[in-house]
Amino acid sequence: MTNYEVAIVGGGISGLTSSIYAARAGKRTIVLEQQKQLGGRAITNKKLGVYFNLGAHALYKGEAYEAFRELGLRLEGSTPSIDAYVMWKEQLLALPTNTSSFFQTPLLSWGGKLELAKSFMKLGKMDTSVWNHISIRDWIETQLHDPMLRNVFYALLRTSTYVFAPELHSAGPALKQLQRALKGVLYLDKGWGTIVEQLRELAVKQGVEIVTGCKVAEVEHQDQKVHSILCESGARIEAANVILTTPPSISHKLVPHADQTALDTWNKQAIPATVACLDIGLRQLPIKEHQFIYGLDQPIFFTHQSREGKPRPAILSDDGTKVISLIKYQGPQIDAAKDENELEHVLDVVQPGWRNEVVTRQFLPRMTVVHDFPHMKRMENPGPAVPEIEGLYVAGDWASHGELLVNASVASAKRAVSQLLNAREEIKV
Ligand SMILES: Cc1cc2nc3c(=O)[nH]c(=O)nc-3n(C[C@H](O)[C@H](O)[C@H](O)COP(=O)(O)OP(=O)(O)OC[C@H]3O[C@@H](n4cnc5c(N)ncnc54)[C@H](O)[C@@H]3O)c2cc1C
Repeated sequence: MTNYEVAIVGGGISGLTSSIYAARAGKRTIVLEQQKQLGGRAITNKKLGVYFNLGAHALYKGEAYEAFRELGLRLEGSTPSIDAYVMWKEQLLALPTNTSSFFQTPLLSWGGKLELAKSFMKLGKMDTSVWNHISIRDWIETQLHDPMLRNVFYALLRTSTYVFAPELHSAGPALKQLQRALKGVLYLDKGWGTIVEQLRELAVKQGVEIVTGCKVAEVEHQDQKVHSILCESGARIEAANVILTTPPSISHKLVPHADQTALDTWNKQAIPATVACLDIGLRQLPIKEHQFIYGLDQPIFFTHQSREGKPRPAILSDDGTKVISLIKYQGPQIDAAKDENELEHVLDVVQPGWRNEVVTRQFLPRMTVVHDFPHMKRMENPGPAVPEIEGLYVAGDWASHGELLVNASVASAKRAVSQLLNAREEIKV
């Protein structure tokens, strides 16, 4: 069959989620993915019995988590405690998150500790949307007084958003993400590939056709209406509706005359955030209590993803190998060799002797975590519809209306399908 009501370009979380909602609404739906494997940036690579996501991945209890639950996915894993250290001038100092660290850590003065406790309490009840129109930097500089506490909040908000640009990132969505982080994130057993596989199974069950290894070359439209998709292989698929879950630059390239549409603005305003990731399987952790480290004077983060948590440690290897992840948040200048050395050096401080414990490792020099995010230079929120071309929609992490990361991928998928169905209310499952 080459005639569909909905064709979705991209088989990552956003594409698969959109396909399920479209098929549930009775639409004949196809997903086209250029890679041989589904999942996009949510794949999990298995190496010597160790499950590596593409860098540290934590599921926040937001829009994606809610949708996955709504769809009946099994989300098994572990919620680690928020106890953590910070790294400051190559020293590790406890973050005052429990009674013992509150009294003992030299990280903050008494005034700073009290301000931290008050800020966390305030954050718990805060309507974060009040801060949507100022940057993280402005929020921190105007709302916090203690200089070291400001450093702590820069690190916490960078970790929650993956963005190393506090002057650009909107404070409201970042604070909301931090609110969620403080309630506990989920490290998934066997990695995010389990979400991808369950979404695939569900999509197939709903009758979605999934084609991998199919690179879309063009979205064809005439008289301001979408009518088909042309694949690089030359195959043509007729579809009255197309949802692009590709990055903004690719979405722009796929649509002829995109410069005369909103795709042009969305592409021009997009600011990607990239990181270097070092993921390592270790026989054991040289220092067990060092589980979670925020860099204060350097943009780094360390987490032990298979650590103790509720209800038990997350299962990220077949034989008990521990999985640790380091992230370096990158600015515009990127030097892969330097980033790898820096991350290894951080590990020398955090887990001295780690080199003798390595089972396997993965270094990803430059991963795009998000293709765009809610920032101060945004002219408008992308999507769900491309207003100039009937039947054309966008979704994906960059098509955020205030949600972050995978929450944006899923929320935008739901928005695209809702609008496509002409439904005014939330999709009923
Ligand atoms: C290092 C790292 C850490 C992260 N950590 C977290 C985290 O802790 N929490 C969180 O919520 N999120 C996290 N994320 C983000 C999360 O992984 C993404 O938001 C999510 O996986 C993106 O899904 P997507 O479907 O929007 O995009 P993608 O996964 O990029 O899917 C787009 C798909 O389109 C396909 N495609 C592109 N062009 C074409 C074409 N021409 N034809 C056909 N197919 C095409 C691509 O191959 C891809 O599969 C992290 C990401 C990274 C990289």
